[in-house]
Amino acid sequence: MQDRSTDFDLIVVGAGMAGHCTALEGARQGGRVLLLEKTERYGGSTRMCGGAFAFAGTDIQKKLGIEDSAELLEQDLMAAGKHRNDAALVHAYAQHQYEAYKWLEALGLRFEKVSLSGSQSVPRNHSIDPVLVLETLHDNVLRAGVAYRSGAAVQRLLTEGEGEERRVVGVALASGETVRAAGGVAIATGGFSRAADLVERFVPHLRAARPMGGYGNTGDGLRMAWALGADLIDLGYVKGSFGAPVAAPTPGMEEQAPRLISAMYRGAIVVNAAGRRFIDESVSYKAIGDRCLQQPDALAFQIFDQQVMDQSSPLPTVADYRAALDTGLLRQAGSLRDLAAALGIDPDGLLATVERYNAACDGREPDEMGRTSLSTGYGKPTRIERGPFYGLACTTGLTSTYCGLHTDTDARVLDVFDRPIEGLYATGEVMGGFHGETYMSGSSLAKGCIFGRLAARHALRRAGVAAA
Ligand SMILES: Cc1cc2nc3c(=O)[nH]c(=O)nc-3n(C[C@H](O)[C@H](O)[C@H](O)COP(=O)(O)OP(=O)(O)OC[C@H]3O[C@@H](n4cnc5c(N)ncnc54)[C@H](O)[C@@H]3O)c2cc1C
Repeated sequence: MQDRSTDFDLIVVGAGMAGHCTALEGARQGGRVLLLEKTERYGGSTRMCGGAFAFAGTDIQKKLGIEDSAELLEQDLMAAGKHRNDAALVHAYAQHQYEAYKWLEALGLRFEKVSLSGSQSVPRNHSIDPVLVLETLHDNVLRAGVAYRSGAAVQRLLTEGEGEERRVVGVALASGETVRAAGGVAIATGGFSRAADLVERFVPHLRAARPMGGYGNTGDGLRMAWALGADLIDLGYVKGSFGAPVAAPTPGMEEQAPRLISAMYRGAIVVNAAGRRFIDESVSYKAIGDRCLQQPDALAFQIFDQQVMDQSSPLPTVADYRAALDTGLLRQAGSLRDLAAALGIDPDGLLATVERYNAACDGREPDEMGRTSLSTGYGKPTRIERGPFYGLACTTGLTSTYCGLHTDTDARVLDVFDRPIEGLYATGEVMGGFHGETYMSGSSLAKGCIFGRLAARHALRRAGVAAA
């Protein structure tokens, strides 16, 4: 077996959002950094995602008259997680999120839009093309001198020392090669949505959900750290994401087809094949995802009118109803009855549901599901009345598994006795503890950036490169 020495200060495993931010920060701190990616193309789930970042107190929000703050974001994150999240991690996110936003902007990235999404009490999802973010980060990573290798799957972690002295010193690749780093290893391997065995073991309630994350996201980082006694947290809380289209995109248009649609936050209702609503649509799309799995065939439909279609926008991609229509995912019809027939929904059921919903919008009767807002208390529901009408057959996707390695606020992985595993860091989706019971939209990308940068700084201090 060849040993490639201790040529590095930091090894980052996985080249999505989290891994790129970790590597770039490490290089900018003066470290010699190696970024390893298992697949041939960097990006993982980040490449497929909606590109929404949950930031607060930004200039774009101010320009739009949206009053937001780190404190409100922190409160919303804790409320979303039903206070089962690790409060220290949430506080660290709130403290560092604005700095992360400015750091991304300083790379030339411009967030184009701010919109409202699940678990947010004010609009704070800052949208940007995720592929542009990845390409910009990748360019910067290379220019900063990071050594990048694709097709380089890490298989396990190397340690030295026993007991209290044990520390992570490097990685072994599937090829048999070993590489060492003085400051340690940051795991940024994403989730395990593509690992059927881990889904069955940890989140069997989601076995019917459609796997949607990065193709390399098979929980490798989780397994490697688990083998060293890492504490795994939040596994029971993983939820699917509502809004994964059921129809296949028109052949040749797969890349343009949105992977998730959430028209309910702009006025759609959600019904099952009987045409009945089954949840207050203003709640988190994770909670809607749970209920969708309980419907016959785990099937639901987002139903809306032209008034909602007029709000379609390319970003965030979950609001790109126009692209959903153009790529054959969304059905359009001149009347609700025709729409129901095209989608296989009971037409009488749907018509009666819409009538009751419109009456509730007018204040003539209480909403049958208790809906009073578009999303989490924000915005007023509007009547479904202006044709043409639109319907999306959709289900719950397992886009992400927001759980895993418990870390402290420096992103150091903790063991089952709550002690840091020396030299081991985790960031991004593989990290647990942050979200608690429910995930707030937009918080995963930002989390990867925030905790990746904190991990890099800590590891380089360990390596004696960065100042304490
Ligand atoms: C359809 C969809 C929409 C989403 N929308 C949003 C959104 O708008 N906002 C938001 O915040 N989140 C969103 N998410 C979730 C978000 O995209 C992910 O949680 C986030 O991108 C994860 O980033 P990451 O860097 O941790 O992991 P990834 O981006 O998945 O990167 C992990 C990388 O690690 C590599 N890897 C795995 N194992 C190994 C190994 N053994 N050795 C080397 N490399 C390895 C993988 O191949 C992959 O490239 C969405 C997800 C999906 C699927």
